[in-house]
Amino acid sequence: MGYRGRFAPSPTGPLHAGSLVAALASWLDARSHDGTWLVRIEDVDAPRCVAGMGEHILSQLAAFGLASDEVPLVQSQRAHAYQQALETLIASGWVYPCHCSRKDILNALAVLGRERPRHAELVYPGTCRSKTEVVADLPNAPQPAWRFRTDTAHPLVHWHDRRLGCQQQDVEKTVGDFPLQRADGCATYQLAVVVDDAAQGITHIVRGEDLADNTARQILLQQALNLPTPSYLHTPLMLGANGEKLSKQNGAQALDISNPLAGLKQAAVVLGLRPSPAKLVNAALQDWMGQWQHLYNPAHD
Ligand code: GLU
Repeated sequence: MGYRGRFAPSPTGPLHAGSLVAALASWLDARSHDGTWLVRIEDVDAPRCVAGMGEHILSQLAAFGLASDEVPLVQSQRAHAYQQALETLIASGWVYPCHCSRKDILNALAVLGRERPRHAELVYPGTCRSKTEVVADLPNAPQPAWRFRTDTAHPLVHWHDRRLGCQQQDVEKTVGDFPLQRADGCATYQLAVVVDDAAQGITHIVRGEDLADNTARQILLQQALNLPTPSYLHTPLMLGANGEKLSKQNGAQALDISNPLAGLKQAAVVLGLRPSPAKLVNAALQDWMGQWQHLYNPAHD
């Protein structure tokens, strides 16, 4: 199969300069492999998404010359595919229902003496993992979330990142059994991304380094669902004034589409591409030749 890559923005706000780095990197990698580049709108978490933002993002990308080679997949239309994958995992014993609230998890961790360091991920202690009783099927009984068991898989995942090199993560210890479907019935990012990458035949994932931490979970899920594992490359991040990853939370502005060249140049610098006047005039030369070559008449020279 040929190269198939993707850029998968969540329409929680407009793209900013940091998002353009991932978009450009995935586009460049696809084009340099003669591959197909797709855009996927990851609006699976409906309450966090902004109406109309998917279309807005596509128009922002178009202003930078980045257009999806196929009709963009929209995750809010894919609930049936996520449900099907969840049912496969239920049938094969990879997931279990969980009724724990966030408070229950914090309490269970406190009882175990595992206080969570501030800002650290909440490692699920497996409270519902071995519960066998069926919760009453009453009309008002709360729906469970569904968690993936990391104890029966090989939780120590090794993978190779094309930029970061050899990586490993013990998912059971550092993340714990993670949710695939929330109690409100919504598929989580981990499930949706794995199902869609496989459905779209994605062979190469190029995305920001802030997402690298999700890779081990996604590989475990791919293995449980018998899906292929794509190749991974996590790009450097554009940093905000406070030295942290540029994000809406630390004041990133929407991409300025009035000056696409400046935006692309800034993104290229983060990727270590050092755009130079020489490269620009070379590209202009190619364009010039494409535009005027057929009118060239040596007799008049
Ligand atoms: N939708 C995710 C985000 O915007 C990216 C998912 C991915 O590239 O795997 O952060």
